[in-house]
Amino acid sequence: MILATQHTRMDRYLTRLISFDIDGTLEIGDPPGGITMEMVRRVKGLGYLIGSCSDRTVSEQRRIWRDNGIKVEFTVLKHRLEEVKEQIPADEYYHVGDTEADRRASLQAGFNFLPMDDAVIRFLNGLTPQ
Ligand SMILES: [Mg+2]
Repeated sequence: MILATQHTRMDRYLTRLISFDIDGTLEIGDPPGGITMEMVRRVKGLGYLIGSCSDRTVSEQRRIWRDNGIKVEFTVLKHRLEEVKEQIPADEYYHVGDTEADRRASLQAGFNFLPMDDAVIRFLNGLTPQ
C-alpha cells in the first residue's frame, strides 16, 4: 500500500493521534471542509488514533461518526482538547482545523496544529500529517 511506504521502520512503533475539527474542516461540516471521510478512513487505516474536537456537542459528534460508520477514540468540545492528551497515551498528537481557535486550542493542549488546507494537500498526496 502506497501510504504505508511513507512510514520508516521506526515509525511503525509510534502511536499517533489525530483530532479533527468538524465545521469548515470535514466534508460533512457546516460549512463543508476539504477533509473527506475517505481521507479520515485512510488515516485510521494507517493506525492513527482518531476522533473529533469541535464546538458541536459531544452527542452530535458521536452521531456524525456513527452515521459515517467510523469508530473513533474520542469526541470532545473545542476547549477540552487537553483531556484527550491526559486520557489517551500517544507519541504524537495532531489537530486538524480551519480557524485561529483551532490553532489556539492545539497549542494550549500541546498538539501539533495542522491547518485544514495543508492537511488536504498532504492526504491527497498520500502523505501522513507530518
Ligand atoms: Mg472549524
